[in-house]
Amino acid sequence: MESLPVKKNLVWEKVQTLLQQEFGEAAYRSWLQPIYCSTIDTSTGETILSIPTKFMRDWIKTHYLDRIIALLSEFLERPAHIEFVVDKKPTTTATDSAIQPAANLTAPNVISLQKYQQQNKSISEENPNDWVGQYNLMNTLDSRFTFDNFVVGKSNELAHAAARRVAESEGVPFNPLFLYGGVGLGKTHLMHAIGHAIAERTPNRRVIYLSAEKFMYAFIRSLRFKDVMSFKEQFRSVDVLMIDDVQFIAGKESTQEEFFHTFNALVDQNRQVIVSADKSPSDLEGLEDRMKSRLGWGLVADIHPTTYELRLGILQSKIEFLSLNIPDKVLEFLAHKIASNVRELEGALIRLKAHADLTGHAITLDLTQDVLSDILRANDKTLSIEDIQKKVAEHFHLKVADLTSARRAQNITRPRHIAMYLAKKLTSKSLPEIGRSFGGRDHAAIIHAVKRVESLQKTNHEFAQDVTLLFKMLDR
Ligand code: ADP
Ligand code: MG
Repeated sequence: MESLPVKKNLVWEKVQTLLQQEFGEAAYRSWLQPIYCSTIDTSTGETILSIPTKFMRDWIKTHYLDRIIALLSEFLERPAHIEFVVDKKPTTTATDSAIQPAANLTAPNVISLQKYQQQNKSISEENPNDWVGQYNLMNTLDSRFTFDNFVVGKSNELAHAAARRVAESEGVPFNPLFLYGGVGLGKTHLMHAIGHAIAERTPNRRVIYLSAEKFMYAFIRSLRFKDVMSFKEQFRSVDVLMIDDVQFIAGKESTQEEFFHTFNALVDQNRQVIVSADKSPSDLEGLEDRMKSRLGWGLVADIHPTTYELRLGILQSKIEFLSLNIPDKVLEFLAHKIASNVRELEGALIRLKAHADLTGHAITLDLTQDVLSDILRANDKTLSIEDIQKKVAEHFHLKVADLTSARRAQNITRPRHIAMYLAKKLTSKSLPEIGRSFGGRDHAAIIHAVKRVESLQKTNHEFAQDVTLLFKMLDR
C-alpha cells in the first residue's frame, strides 16, 4: 500500500479545495474541513476518512459522498472506495476555529419545528448529536457587523463600551453582559462584533452565538433524540456563549430551565455569557424571577432610541460603505424623518440606491420623498397639542384636564402657560387652534402665555430648566 503522507495529503487537499469551491465557505468549514484523511491507497482507490461524530458522518454521507467519490476517482484515475471512521481526535485542529460556523447553510434563520424535523428526517434516531458544532447553533457571523462599522453616539455608548470591554478582556469583566433595547438598534450587530473581535484576538476561545429560538429548537431536538446529556455537556464547555433575543424563551418553561442551568454552569466556571433582549431583565415578562435576577447580576447595558445626530452619523457611514452619492440635505431629511430604528434607515438607503441605479437619476429631495413615500408616511409622527399636554401634565404631576380647565392656581397656570408656549413653538397650529385645544381660550391668551414664559425664563432658573427639558423631550 502506498501511503506516502505527502502524496495522500496533496490529493485530499485538492479534493477539499474543489469541494470548498463547489459548496461554499460555510458548508466547507462546517462539514468538509473537519474530515481527516488518514489513508489513500493510490493503487486500489481505498480511502479512509475520519469524522469526529456519527452524526457528521451520516450528514456527509447523505450530502457530500457522491461528490467526494467522484472527485477522488478523478484524481486517482480509478474508482475510489471510501471507508468512514468516527474518531474525535484528528479533527481537533481542523475545528479549532474560535467561531463555529453555521452547520447547515440551507437552514433559514427562522425555522419552524415541523420544517426542521422534515429537513432532518434522514437522521436516524440512534444518532448521537454534536449539538454545538453540528446543528446550526452558530450562525455565520455577518461580516458587516463589526466594531469598525458601528457608529457610536450617546444612545448606545454604554452598550458599545461594554461590548468592547468583553471582546478585548483577557478574562471575564462582567458576567453576564446583558444588552437590551428596542428593535433595530444594534444589539445583534454588537454581539457579532464581539464574536469577530474575540476570533481575531484569541482564536482558541470557543465562541458560540445563537438566537434563543435556535437554542430552544436544539434543546427540543436533543430531547427527541434522547441525547440531552451531550447537549448539556457541549453547551457547558464553550468559552463564550452569546444568546440573542432571550425574550423568546419567556413562557417556555423547560427551555428556560435548561438555559438557566447552562447559564449557571458557565458563569460558575467563569466563562463569558452575553445575552440580548428587547427589555431589561426585570421587565421581561414570562421569565422566572430567579432567572431575571440572575440575568441582572453582571452589567446591564441598554441601547436607547437613536438621536438625530446618531442617525445622521450612521447614514454618513452607510453611504460611504455603499458608495452612494446623496446630498447632505437629503441625509438630514432622512435622519429627521425616519426616527424609528436603524434597520429602517438602512432600508431607505438601499431602496434609494436601487432606484438611482435602475433609473440613473440623481438622488434629490423630491425623488427621495417620492421613492420613500410609504416609509415616510409610516414615520410621520407629527407632534400634536395633545402630546404636549400629556407630557407637560406628566412632568408637573397634573391631569391634562387641569391644563384645559379654567382654574387659576399658580401650580396650574404655569404649566398651562408652558404647554401653550410649547404648542406655539413646536407645532404649526394657529393661535386660535391652540386656544381651542386649551378649553376654548382665544388667541390673545396664547400670546400672553408665550410672553409670560419668555420673561419668566429670564428670572426663574428652575422654571427655565423645566421649559428647556420639556422642549428637548418633545422636539422631534
Ligand atoms: P437589533 O438586533 O437590536 O434588532 P441589529 O443589530 O440587527 O438590531 O441592527 C439593525 C441594523 O441596523 C443592522 O444592519 C445594523 O448594522 C444597523 N445598526 C444598528 N445600530 C447601528 C450603529 N450604531 N451603527 C451602524 N449600524 C447600526
Ligand atoms: Mg437582533
